Amino acid sequence: MTSNYSIQVESTSQSRLSEIDFSTLKFGSIFSDHMLWAEYKDSAWQEVKIVPYGPFSISPAASALHYGQAIFEGIKAYKFEDGSISIFRPDENWKRFNTSAKRLQMPEVPEEIFLGGMHKLLEVDQKWIPQKEGSSLYIRPFMFATEDHLGVHPSISYKFLIITCPVGAYYSQPLKLKVETHFTRAAEGGVGFSKNAGNYALSLYPTQKALDEGFDQVMWTDAKEHKYIEEAGTANLIFRIGDTIITPHGETILHGITRKTIIELADKWGYKTEQRKVSIQELIDGIKSGTVSDAFAAGTAATVTPISTIGWEGKLYELPPVEGREFSERVLKYLNELRYGKIEDEFGWNHIVK
Ligand SMILES: *Cc1c(COP(=O)(O)O)cnc(C)c1O
Repeated sequence: MTSNYSIQVESTSQSRLSEIDFSTLKFGSIFSDHMLWAEYKDSAWQEVKIVPYGPFSISPAASALHYGQAIFEGIKAYKFEDGSISIFRPDENWKRFNTSAKRLQMPEVPEEIFLGGMHKLLEVDQKWIPQKEGSSLYIRPFMFATEDHLGVHPSISYKFLIITCPVGAYYSQPLKLKVETHFTRAAEGGVGFSKNAGNYALSLYPTQKALDEGFDQVMWTDAKEHKYIEEAGTANLIFRIGDTIITPHGETILHGITRKTIIELADKWGYKTEQRKVSIQELIDGIKSGTVSDAFAAGTAATVTPISTIGWEGKLYELPPVEGREFSERVLKYLNELRYGKIEDEFGWNHIVK
């Protein structure tokens, strides 16, 4: 990668590494020593540097706080047995980040800053990447508007940062999902496909209602009729109905890289795949008739989380036992081996940090 940005590294004088108990990592609460920091103003990215992780000040009028120009990404890096460091498909996250930026009228972040900066940050904090199988380094790039002006217009200044967290193995309980038929996550023409902060703020109230009713998550449906399945929480949905691997499609869902990866794998393995509208009625009919043999949420956090139960219009529908779900078990096994460098990377998904 040629570079127009020389990334200066300001190292911490006091690493926190020795204070961390890597056997009890809680997701998203321990941060590595350093962060990437970049500023955008006068229509250009100015300064890119790696600095000690820590708080910083912004104006109370910073427009992200008032009008919500704020986007992010979530990526994982893994350490192989031989110590090599690999980031899983970060090029896809970079593209999606800029798609989100465009929709929110924010500047794009060049590859050299997003990917080049990420590689350099991981080099600096490589000791923070856990090696134990199942654990990884969660990478969180994000950008927000910083102009101190209370007028609704695109900000003229932004910050782009990358912070990272070591995370342990993620054992996910099977999910009990509530089909949401009143609240809406995203509508056609809206921002559902972008990973912007507002999409999460609006999900919290309906999700709390679902939790109060004994569910784990909301299964979102289309805004117009509440008939078609979209996604659940912060993960996409994949079903096996008959012999076909099916995932909902459209501009209202967040196009997950885990989802894309799994569909690509299914294609390669010779399954029939379909990306299309899936009605809740079709799924319930399939559960009743026994044609639904697999159903799971797919996302970077847990890769695959099986769905055990679906609640719809006051009734509960039970899916087949989680053990013995052939497709999702095969996917998980393959991805676990691939991401720790145990099998050949025939797709070129592992980006090795030099
Ligand atoms: C991040 C996210 C996903 C999953 O995307 P991955 O790239 O697979 O991690 C799905 N839905 C929503 C709403 C998300 O924010």
